[in-house]
Amino acid sequence: MNSTIAYIGLGSNEGDRHLFIQSAAEMLAGVPGCRLCRQSRMIETHALGGAGNADYLNTVAEIETSLTPESLLQAMQDIELRLGRVRVEKWGPRTVDLDLLLCGERIVCEPSLTVPHRQLHLRSFVLAGLAELCPERVHPVLRRDMRTLAGRLNGQNFFVRPDKPRLISITGLIGVGKTTLTRGLANALAGQAIYEEFDKNPYLAEVYAGHTELALDSELYFLCSSVRQLSPEALNSGKIYVNDYVFEKALIYARSWLAPELLAEYETIYPEQHEKAAVPMVVIYLEDTVEHCLQRIHQRHRPFEQGIQPEFLANLEKWYNDLFEQWTACPVIRVRAEECRLPEQVETLAREISCYVTHEEKDRCTWSTQ
Ligand code: ATP
Ligand code: CA
Ligand code: CA
Repeated sequence: MNSTIAYIGLGSNEGDRHLFIQSAAEMLAGVPGCRLCRQSRMIETHALGGAGNADYLNTVAEIETSLTPESLLQAMQDIELRLGRVRVEKWGPRTVDLDLLLCGERIVCEPSLTVPHRQLHLRSFVLAGLAELCPERVHPVLRRDMRTLAGRLNGQNFFVRPDKPRLISITGLIGVGKTTLTRGLANALAGQAIYEEFDKNPYLAEVYAGHTELALDSELYFLCSSVRQLSPEALNSGKIYVNDYVFEKALIYARSWLAPELLAEYETIYPEQHEKAAVPMVVIYLEDTVEHCLQRIHQRHRPFEQGIQPEFLANLEKWYNDLFEQWTACPVIRVRAEECRLPEQVETLAREISCYVTHEEKDRCTWSTQ
């Protein structure tokens, strides 16, 4: 038997959810050409499609099968019907939902079947199960393993809203290469680049030169500039933007520069401004050692940056790590600086990112462009 290992997501949010899922798993085990190998633990999740819907129970089943992905889907839909599923509304309540997540290395991109499941990388409720069963298994399109994909979501579930700007925010230390990557990704994705206006900030050089009494002015300048760049009026829905900072960096730098009483002042202003800025659809956290960043700072030779000390960068790094440990606003993709130097590396990263900003109905199946 020419068999494949496949992973199926099982979910229920109606009736005896546990029983429906277990019955579906047993029925899968009984499908000719299928063997049920393992099942992840159950997790409970709020429904994606609106606050009114009941919570889901979800699990992932690992099966060994000789069926084609198409026949497997057919068998899964039979099981849904036999367990009383009625298709009424998209993402509406259902006794049981079976999604084909992965089927060996297969890539399918048909109107009635997309494998890997096209939302897999945006859903913790399936990635948690996959990371439990097969942490090292590699997504054949994204070429990242399940543990990595799960880690990017920090336990959250996302879906791409067509009415939002597709904002991709690049973040990382000074000198890591954010601006170059921003330019490269904006080109590769046919999007618009948005750069931090450090060269227009009239206070910045003075602050770096030791005039910390101007630090509040400098930080307020950056705050206003970011709000202007990322406000809803500045960005069109559906359009791709790549910017070389995350809005939250404003707070990180304010904490680095401002004396406690000025920071307290700043922190009363910040939340209201934060509210005005678009939330990124995905963050790219570009990482490199403090030493390498310092080398680049010296090479590019912006005069005001030449006094930057390693301790200052190490401190920023700590703040950024703390920020992303708790980040739940969107997926965070961590990339090493040496992984995106060459044009072909930037192209590959752009394709990966596009999967995180693709609307499942509005856009062509991303898999087909690989
Ligand atoms: P989602 O797919 O976002 O989880 P859903 O499970 O609620 O949404 P359904 O109504 O169950 O969506 O399925 C809609 C259609 O999706 C099905 O008719 C099926 O043909 C198609 N489909 C495409 N790819 C897959 C896949 N990998 N697994 C299951 N169904 C798929
Ligand atoms: Ca589903
Ligand atoms: Ca489904």
